[in-house]
Amino acid sequence: MRFSSCYIPTLKESPADAEVVSHKLLLRAGMVRRLTSGLYVYLPLGLRVIEKIGRIVREEMEKADFRELLMPMVQPADLWKETGRWEHYGKELLRFKDRNEREYCLGPTHEEVITDLVRGEVRSYRQLPVRLYQVQTKFRDEIRPRFGLMRGREFVMKDGYSFDANTEGAEKSYKAMYDAYMRIFRRLGLRFRAVEADTGSIGGNFSHEFMVLADTGEDTIAFCHECEYAANVERAEVVWKGQPATAACPAMEEIATPGAHSVEEVATMLGVPASSIVKTMLFKADGQTVAVLVRGDREVNDIKLKNLMKVQEVELADAATVQAVTGAPVGFAGPVKLGVPIYADAELQGGTAYVVGANAADAHIKHVDLKRDAAVTAWGDLRTITPEDQCPRCGGRMELTRGIEVGHIFMLGVKYSEAMHAVFLDENGKEQTMIMGCYGIGVSRVAAAAIEQNHDENGIVFPPPVAPFECILLNLDPRSEEVNAKVEEMYTMLQGRGVEVLMDDREERPGVKFKDADLLGIPTQIVVGGKGLARGIVECKDRRTGEKGELSADNLEQDFA
Ligand code: ATP
Ligand code: MG
Ligand code: MG
Ligand code: MG
Repeated sequence: MRFSSCYIPTLKESPADAEVVSHKLLLRAGMVRRLTSGLYVYLPLGLRVIEKIGRIVREEMEKADFRELLMPMVQPADLWKETGRWEHYGKELLRFKDRNEREYCLGPTHEEVITDLVRGEVRSYRQLPVRLYQVQTKFRDEIRPRFGLMRGREFVMKDGYSFDANTEGAEKSYKAMYDAYMRIFRRLGLRFRAVEADTGSIGGNFSHEFMVLADTGEDTIAFCHECEYAANVERAEVVWKGQPATAACPAMEEIATPGAHSVEEVATMLGVPASSIVKTMLFKADGQTVAVLVRGDREVNDIKLKNLMKVQEVELADAATVQAVTGAPVGFAGPVKLGVPIYADAELQGGTAYVVGANAADAHIKHVDLKRDAAVTAWGDLRTITPEDQCPRCGGRMELTRGIEVGHIFMLGVKYSEAMHAVFLDENGKEQTMIMGCYGIGVSRVAAAAIEQNHDENGIVFPPPVAPFECILLNLDPRSEEVNAKVEEMYTMLQGRGVEVLMDDREERPGVKFKDADLLGIPTQIVVGGKGLARGIVECKDRRTGEKGELSADNLEQDFA
């Protein structure tokens, strides 16, 4: 493709409103433009990246025997009322009415639609498993759309769904997806980790997230140095001194599942802006509400902290009482209940940890400085376990790192099939409920995550499988007939060999072309100029290493072999 005919509006400066590096570079490299909050136009180069990712995703889904279909983005409210999510999904679900006053939403995910499809068609165990997927635009009215493609309101997702006759089959489908995801993210050339995860508003029995490791990630992952354990801290269960915390505080009972209280309710309760709250949990001990955990975000940490303390003063016992009862050292408030995360990420939370502890009589929320507080710096005392894990945990040293959630797979069980009566007749003619799984990849988020992980001070350094082109051919002297002829010859030759090549034929100074070539992050640069040709050579450069080489201008066919 010729640069002059391809709309690539590169920018010299970073736009002021772009906070993270992928957002800055996607804008600067002329790959995306913002339409309005959380909505982006994919320009030709950006779209090529999205399509590259989509191609690998599709190939691996097909290998795992999932077949592509395409469902409407607009979904009728009736289906969402069947599963109860019309009530529970909250404000991320964008709802509207048609001219006949019928209610609809824009699909943030498609469990209801696909279950409706399959229940209408499948009658017998012989028709199972059903494994389907689509690559489609989703809409979620995110509370804080930000970071460009990382958290848009409209974004491209691959969503897959499986329907099986029994648990064994469902586990096979889940495993097939787990393995496919491992292959996908490996093929994309990303450094990533599969971690145990919370099931959130999708629900289900268990799940794994696929995290691209990057400092700018919004998630915190806890992983063990000695064994294979890795989990999102949202999911982590904490053991205090070898005792599962749940056993240490038997009277403590979760009285509200995360999300059962609306963000607005909790915001009103705490007197903080709703935008400061991401997640809430309420617990009860001896008839009293003992803890409210609020996870704030980047800009509002101070508000969050202040208000956690406020809850403590108003409703909870003081630290001394808790320490006397639990025997916890100063600076740590005692056993931690299952499902209550420890937030301890030095960067995002400013080097602090929020620890919620409770026993039958008392509860406490403690804020500790990780760097100063010896009791909590000793992470070896805190071990992370999961309910599925029946062997004692290894007790190894845990470490925290940051990740970007690019994929998420869920064993749904019968959550949707039961609510929507998706049933079939088994070998004995008996009615059974289908067992489901669902599997998402944020295709557009992967593009951003690839850049978060692969860039330098000059711009993007795409892993080759994600790059919009394999090679950029720089014509340093478009006014010279000799240079033009050589560039055209090479362009034709490369295309003939199936190399995806972008030819920079613009009437620009060499400096501009070198800068743009680095910015775009295309893996190989080939530079053709008058001076080189006089010496009988063209130059090539590896974008990642900066390594340069020379090719003989007269013998190109051979050099490329
Ligand atoms: P997050 O925790 O980041 O809000 P999620 O857990 O709500 O994501 P899922 O419901 O698991 O997301 O959706 C599947 C995948 O879709 C995610 O793993 C992620 O890669 C992608 N995704 C979700 N929300 C967005 C968004 N707002 N912008 C871009 N990609 C997204
Ligand atoms: Mg979300
Ligand atoms: Mg998530
Ligand atoms: Mg998720």
